[in-house]
Amino acid sequence: MTDERVSHGEKEQRDRLVGPGLDATQAFAVCGDALTNPSLDGAARLEQIIDAQALLMAAAGPGHGVRFSDLVDRLSGEEAGTLDGLMPSWASPPGLDALRFLDRDGFTTEDAYDYRYEVLQVIRAAQKVGKFYGRVTVTALQGEYKQETVYASLKGAYYDVHRGNLVKHPVVTVDALKKLKLPPPAMDYFADIPSHMSYHGYWFACPACKWPMKVSVSGERGRAAGSVECLYPWHAETGASYIFTPTAGHVPELDQAVEYRTPDARHRAVYTGAVPGVPEAVPVEGYKALMRDVWRYTTIPGLPEVRLFDVLRERLEGTGVQVELWPDNDVYDLLVARGEGAEQQTLFAVDFKDYRWSNHLVSKLRADGGDRGGAGWIVVPDHRASQIPQLTEECRRHGMRAATATDFLELVVNSVRKGASR
Ligand SMILES: [Zn+2]
Repeated sequence: MTDERVSHGEKEQRDRLVGPGLDATQAFAVCGDALTNPSLDGAARLEQIIDAQALLMAAAGPGHGVRFSDLVDRLSGEEAGTLDGLMPSWASPPGLDALRFLDRDGFTTEDAYDYRYEVLQVIRAAQKVGKFYGRVTVTALQGEYKQETVYASLKGAYYDVHRGNLVKHPVVTVDALKKLKLPPPAMDYFADIPSHMSYHGYWFACPACKWPMKVSVSGERGRAAGSVECLYPWHAETGASYIFTPTAGHVPELDQAVEYRTPDARHRAVYTGAVPGVPEAVPVEGYKALMRDVWRYTTIPGLPEVRLFDVLRERLEGTGVQVELWPDNDVYDLLVARGEGAEQQTLFAVDFKDYRWSNHLVSKLRADGGDRGGAGWIVVPDHRASQIPQLTEECRRHGMRAATATDFLELVVNSVRKGASR
């Protein structure tokens, strides 16, 4: 339910910090959950949509009604899932008019998901330093999630091994899950493969991240068309996008829907996009997949982190410089250092970030006063290269620098080699 205790002043303060679109984004996330969560019955679904209506009304403020029937219209049909015209412009996410909250299956889109997650990161950072006093109007969204909770559950001597397993094995058989020996809370991040990621008892692994791809079927029987796509847009764009013809009683067979995009020679070393090869249908029976939050915010950024680590370690072999991934229970994501123990000299300390909107990352850096762990570098995946100018400007205020994975790799290798020849 909407938190009535948030005063007008507090709401204004929050809107200044993160923009006014959060309530609307959450409302649509609540709707998406209401429509797709298999654990809800009809009454619970309806109740959740009514909650979402209350959130939208609160976001719009007095004098702007949001009718239940209008909201329900936005949840079905081809044009479903946008805010267009439903909310007054000042209560919509700024610059995000075209943001789709739900896809045509009523499923929360990756953009809406990332928007909500990133804004919550900014709010939490601001709350920690007392720059934000208002309470977030979060409804009882299923599985309201904190990245810190995931990392905290992995802490201990095998932290890097466990975290690596969440990156490399986002889907496992029940037997393989037992063999991973994850700490008990982390076992709960795995669940049955959800219905929107399967078709008649089969699922398909993304060729980039291995997580089950989203399946949708449109059209009437006889003329039905199926599509299968990774929820992470960059994976879909680089090739993880397929079609199939639904045929009763047959195992679905995929065809490529977009051409594989191959990286140029310079960007190949740390490339983590889709690779050629059409995935085969796998029975859902006996498999467990990571929940969406953990996949999106641990597996997805983890893939280029692990790749960068592997390549750096290989290229720096024999130089006396070590590379560590998630050292000391994740003080940084990556550490490049010379020497051991007390003598150790940090050369590069990196925080790896995969934000969909760089302005959210800028707001978070500003609230934290730089990187909380003391990293000197923000590194983003190569496909986020357009964020570098804005990040560089903000990083400069905190004595930090920003780079893409490939630029960082080259810079480190060159600088270590130069240091060695001096
Ligand atoms: Zn993927």
